[in-house]
Amino acid sequence: MTGSTEKSTDSRVAGWRFDNTYTRLPEVLFAPARPAVVKAPKVSILNHALADQLGLDFRTLSSEAAANLFTGQDLPTGSLPIAQAYCGHQYGGFTMLGDGRAILLGEHRTPAGGLVDIQFKGSGPTRYSRNGDGRAALGPMLREYIISEAMAALGIPTTRSLAVATTGETVHRLMALPGAVLTRVAASHLRVGTFEYLGARRDEVTLRLLVDFAIDRHYPELADVPNKVFEFFRAVMDRQAALIARWQLVGFVHGVMNTDNVAISGETIDYGPCAFMNSYRLGTVFSSIDRNGRYAYGNQPAIGQWNLARLAESLLPILNPDRQQAIALANDALGEYPALFERYWHAGMRKKLGLQTEEPDDVELIQALLDWMESAKADFTTTFRTLASPSPPTTVGCHEPEFRAWHARWQLRLSREQEPLTRIHELMRTVNPAVIPRNHRVEEALAAAEERDDLSVLHRLLAALASPFDATPDIERYLAPPADDGDYRTFCGT
Ligand code: AMP
Ligand code: MG
Repeated sequence: MTGSTEKSTDSRVAGWRFDNTYTRLPEVLFAPARPAVVKAPKVSILNHALADQLGLDFRTLSSEAAANLFTGQDLPTGSLPIAQAYCGHQYGGFTMLGDGRAILLGEHRTPAGGLVDIQFKGSGPTRYSRNGDGRAALGPMLREYIISEAMAALGIPTTRSLAVATTGETVHRLMALPGAVLTRVAASHLRVGTFEYLGARRDEVTLRLLVDFAIDRHYPELADVPNKVFEFFRAVMDRQAALIARWQLVGFVHGVMNTDNVAISGETIDYGPCAFMNSYRLGTVFSSIDRNGRYAYGNQPAIGQWNLARLAESLLPILNPDRQQAIALANDALGEYPALFERYWHAGMRKKLGLQTEEPDDVELIQALLDWMESAKADFTTTFRTLASPSPPTTVGCHEPEFRAWHARWQLRLSREQEPLTRIHELMRTVNPAVIPRNHRVEEALAAAEERDDLSVLHRLLAALASPFDATPDIERYLAPPADDGDYRTFCGT
């Protein structure tokens, strides 16, 4: 890289502290794996800010060493690469899956003391690849990088992206595409589907071990509670309800909420055909393969409950030795979900509207705004950001009588709050983002990277997404929705 500073050619250093606890679980849960040798590795993007948080430093690596590291040509000291086994309900149908194009390098101990998974996506075939090639294309890997980092900046639990490196090889999808490897960081890769896998095998012994593993990793406060499995289920449910409410509050459409894409940790995981909604519509779908709208924006909360029911089913044999009692317990817990979700959603919506106190009519006030937005095809993000601005709203549709009536009602409601209006607006701007990864801006950044090897567009976008609530100098460029998003389609991130 630079001539003046001596860079290390040893990619194994950088501060790794691996403790691969998953490999100490029974072998049915994983298979040893080895990242494929590739032709011409090259780093596209490296997340130094995230590395700092993880106690890692890649600044001293030569570009060649970094490229070898982030394509798995050189394995970091202490890593023990495996592919994880799991099943999943995909669009409602049950299938055996597993890491077909992902390899867990190992679990790294952060300066805060916790463990995080370091995983490659697109690093070649594993025992679970079935007919797939185990590879990934540059576009979808950069897309995951952008959206996951945007979600993190919005404060929404998510896996993170440490690096994307190209392989110098071609992957064949609908057309020939540049191959790439994403390095993903996750609280863990335990999925609802991991439990379904053991449930399907009727392996109660390993199921108990996996629940203990998950509790130790994500819910340590449950280690010694009575009815541990039941409480574990409720805790997972609580995090899913909270997570999906966060998605709804920013208009995030995951796109492929199969049970293998539901993380036990409560993080958003597996960014495939996801996208942010522009104009508010409950039926919003972006994924080209989601023809029936199973995973539409408005269905996400209910699908969350459906997915949790699959987790509950898998846990039945260890929930209670009596099957009828186990089912009753699971149903009791699942029955709490709708109210739990509503609580998170209403609390978030109150904040979006600047309401620090609670009044019985708030729910109706919220709904009236959403109803107007849907009929006026109002942009979700712009509407809330405009309401958070001290100047009167000037966006499309805001002169309509229906909106004006709602606005007057809202102003009256705000007058019963303690805080002065300026403070309320200020608080609203901390929860209503100005900048989201708008589809056309994401596509523009990906096209520049893929077609011209120009990453400047992507870096500029990432900089804006890093402070979504602030009026950064470059902000104007990223505010407006696309002229017409009616036909926008995302394709499965393979
Ligand atoms: P996803 O849609 O990314 O959640 O993947 C669903 C399943 O398909 C997972 O088991 C993946 O590992 C597998 N898969 C996706 N793409 C590939 C590929 N190119 N090669 C092998 N397996 C794949
Ligand atoms: Mg997946």
